Amino acid sequence: MSAPRLEIRLDAIAHNTTSMVRRLGEQGISVTAVTKATLGAPEIAATFLAAGAGALGDSRLPNVRRLRRGGIRAPVTLLRTPMLSEVDGIVEHCDISCNTEPEVLAALSLAAVAADRVHGVVLMVELGDLREGIMPNDLCAVAAGVCDLPGLSLRGIGANLACSSGVVPDEANMAELSALAGRVEHTGGLELEIVSGGNSANVSWALGPARVGRINDLRLGEALLLGCDPLDRTPIPGLRTDGATVVAEVIESGLKPTTPWGTRGANAFGEPPAAVSAAGPVQTIVALGRQDTDPGDLAPPEGIEIVASSSDHLVLRGAHPVPVGSEMSFSAGYSAVLRAMTSPTVTKVYLGAEPGAAPTPARSAR
Ligand SMILES: *Cc1c(COP(=O)(O)O)cnc(C)c1O
Repeated sequence: MSAPRLEIRLDAIAHNTTSMVRRLGEQGISVTAVTKATLGAPEIAATFLAAGAGALGDSRLPNVRRLRRGGIRAPVTLLRTPMLSEVDGIVEHCDISCNTEPEVLAALSLAAVAADRVHGVVLMVELGDLREGIMPNDLCAVAAGVCDLPGLSLRGIGANLACSSGVVPDEANMAELSALAGRVEHTGGLELEIVSGGNSANVSWALGPARVGRINDLRLGEALLLGCDPLDRTPIPGLRTDGATVVAEVIESGLKPTTPWGTRGANAFGEPPAAVSAAGPVQTIVALGRQDTDPGDLAPPEGIEIVASSSDHLVLRGAHPVPVGSEMSFSAGYSAVLRAMTSPTVTKVYLGAEPGAAPTPARSAR
């Protein structure tokens, strides 16, 4: 099998999705499964849907197009506020988009009317993380504006935390979102169907002792793919963390000094020289680098330490030589998966598919 490759365990993803759908369902919260880290891979989307997710979310239109080309018919929400230049495609392929800008909403309205469609809108509110969002005091006015625009239907509000500034979803900011939902409904004389509380960083809040209030949706990517809480990278109890593995081939292995010699400057990426490793007398190189994945987000096998990485080489230290031509597997975090999924140099392999659950792709690599 060709290397490097990213092995995705669909059975782990199915398990995590089923578990989250059930446990959050008990709190009245539905799961929008997020495909953006997988570039909209139809295999993974189909796994999410077969495991009980009711809807999909992605941040990029090309990814949504790939889902649609792959035969995915489920409702899709565009998670990032649309670019003005892509509103026609969004109205064509997405059921809902998350929005913050009146100018974009006006353009979506024109596109929806031209296409003879009704496009759903979720207004994102700023709750302190300082990424996307309408300031809370402006929300009711923007909501009223949406209601006045033909071709648009105000479906709900949402918030996103823990992405830009690491602000933790908690009782206070989630209660604020619930209160804002009430205020928009009261002011506009309408009912909001969706109150989307956030991403995987909301899971411990949602499953904890706090009341969930009006929040009835979470948009989950990392929790379903990797079983991890992005706030501290710890496993979410009951979820599988073996969803993604990067596999690379050994191209050199043998005894080498642990201390470099010669005058030392910065490395190829302008970084200061790494500390000298004491991990073992044997240096092994696998054919894997920053062009393929995020080496800093890989967990090496037991007894092996990653000591350096460049564009195409991952340098390891250990006690024993490893045969050239053999393969090594690294457990991959979100950033490593994201980059491996995006890299044309990495083959994608889907394992553990339930028969009949996922469509067979024309090509597994992309
Ligand atoms: C990426 C993203 C998500 C999903 O985040 P995870 O941490 O992978 O769960 C949810 N909502 C928005 C707006 C996003 O951009």
